[in-house]
Amino acid sequence: MAGPVSAGPFLFVNANLERLIALQRLDSAAEDARRRLAEEPERTKTLDGRLEAARQRVATAKARSTDNQSVRRAFEKDVAVHQGRLSKFRDQLMEVKTNVEYQAMQKEIEFAQSEVKAIEDKVLERMIEGDELTATVKRVETELATEQKAVEAERRAMAAELAELKASVERLGGERTELVRAIDPQALAVFELVAGRRNGVAVAEARDGICSICHVRLRPQVFNTVRRNDQLIQCDTCNRILYFSPAAPVATPDGVSQPAQ
Ligand SMILES: [Zn+2]
Repeated sequence: MAGPVSAGPFLFVNANLERLIALQRLDSAAEDARRRLAEEPERTKTLDGRLEAARQRVATAKARSTDNQSVRRAFEKDVAVHQGRLSKFRDQLMEVKTNVEYQAMQKEIEFAQSEVKAIEDKVLERMIEGDELTATVKRVETELATEQKAVEAERRAMAAELAELKASVERLGGERTELVRAIDPQALAVFELVAGRRNGVAVAEARDGICSICHVRLRPQVFNTVRRNDQLIQCDTCNRILYFSPAAPVATPDGVSQPAQ
């Protein structure tokens, strides 16, 4: 509830007006609590989403690490195959009869050696990359653990807040029942009618000759009557029940006012 409203008897000559202002406070507080309660599914979804994103980062990092290992193993098999061919060439080299054959075989061997070297370089690249990927997996796993703790803490805080909100909705409801008993039925009927049509806000402060909620200027005679706080006067434009608070701060020149009471 924003804005100080002194509800002392010296201010509100009309007891019903004073009680309707109190009723509005209760209703607005209950409405705020209900609105906050209604945000629960969205807040839960956001927390679930944070966890899911962290889990997804771990899954992605692990998949990349696994890919890297299988590519590396495939290259290592290639190396073995080429090594096998190399040793066969070396055996054959022993059996060549002519110099030409020898040189041809030598070329084959050199080529196979360069192949092996190229693939071994690739294996090395994958090993370096693999170290980086392993480090990434560890990092995102740590991040996931941190996120799990944070989300868990937020869930607990939210559960406590929701329990408190539910209790306050109940308490406000009880206070409302009490208060309503003391209000003149006709005054209450006006309040309920306006509240039903005006988004739950049936009471408005009149400040500087203006209805602080619909911002329409009151007729001077109406404002003068409202200033006395001795009867229920409704805004001509929004129908809200008007009151005057002498203690209220002077409104800014652009007419910005306090939120609804
Ligand atoms: Zn108004």
